[in-house]
Amino acid sequence: MLIALLPGDGIGPEVIAETVRVLDRVTDQLRFETAPVGGAAYKAEGHPLPPATLDLAKRAKAILFGAVGDPDCDRLERHLRPEQAILGLRKELGLFANLRPATLFKELADASALRPEVAGAIDMVIIRELNGDVYFGEKGMRKTASGRREGYDVMSYDEDEVARIARVGFETARARRGKLCSVDKANVLETSQLWRDVVIEVSAEFPDIELSHMYVDNAAMQLVRNPGQFDVIVTGNLFGDILSDQASMCAGSIGMLPSASLDASQKGLYEPIHGSAPDIAGQGKANPLATILSAAMMLRYSLGLSAEADRIEAAVATALEKGARTPDLGGKLTTTQMGDAVLAAL
Ligand code: ATP
Ligand code: MG
Repeated sequence: MLIALLPGDGIGPEVIAETVRVLDRVTDQLRFETAPVGGAAYKAEGHPLPPATLDLAKRAKAILFGAVGDPDCDRLERHLRPEQAILGLRKELGLFANLRPATLFKELADASALRPEVAGAIDMVIIRELNGDVYFGEKGMRKTASGRREGYDVMSYDEDEVARIARVGFETARARRGKLCSVDKANVLETSQLWRDVVIEVSAEFPDIELSHMYVDNAAMQLVRNPGQFDVIVTGNLFGDILSDQASMCAGSIGMLPSASLDASQKGLYEPIHGSAPDIAGQGKANPLATILSAAMMLRYSLGLSAEADRIEAAVATALEKGARTPDLGGKLTTTQMGDAVLAAL
């Protein structure tokens, strides 16, 4: 199975290198091809998402992505900036569902922003719709009748967009503890009223799943008060952007959190939620676990290798249990030594 490796900028290549070592240990079914992306691609080829990179991403069964972002490129025109590469990949590949698990490894309870007994119960996946909502509606700046400036962004969803992400939510819940919480603001927003109606309609296909609804303001509170109540959350682009960052703080370090962006079939792009971290690039300080855990998601969701995914996640837990810590977790291990610790556990 062909895997596109897009290491990108900053710590991207460092964390991808450790991840490939781990993948090679658990399976011999993968074939890797590497291509430049982001600032690295701009410097080499004049574009953050060169045609050959996009072609590789299209041909591959799954994409393992490091990070993009390079301070040298900050003053480029918008379409040449490294960040455009990930937006382009999402659009070109039709990746509409962003899955972010938030799990606190119990060994890291002291690193969470929440009390250990609250944080210890966190085991959820937040699913954020990526292709619609206020990000893509009509937007602009105009003058009001009295000559004041007015900005506007239209929020819209059609029922097919909602049904498609709802199904991802129900399917994900089915593979976990069978509970789906749909988050909206149906008391105020028309889009949310449609969202709620469509989620209820789709729920007829999933009688085995326990469905609940929550307003987004309450969901923000409940994520801090009692995060253990959630199994799978499904929500729109804007609410998901905010709630998934909030949930990530429960997990101890940004260096621990994986993500998947999926299309309508089994294809996906897998990446750590963190960026290129230019402040620590090239120093061996990056925590590779977010990327290693992203690779586990790739095995599970795109490649049908669940047992191998379980092995990687168990090995990460074992490494942490034995005290393996990079600097972001309060330790002294280098990126490679953390990779070694996971390999030793495997
Ligand atoms: P982006 O805009 O690409 O999301 P960002 O500006 O949000 O990037 P990050 O690159 O994610 O920033 O870095 C934020 C902080 O977290 C930095 O101080 C960075 O060093 C730290 N950090 C990010 N990833 C890791 C990691 N894997 N290991 C250790 N520290 C990390
Ligand atoms: Mg960021």
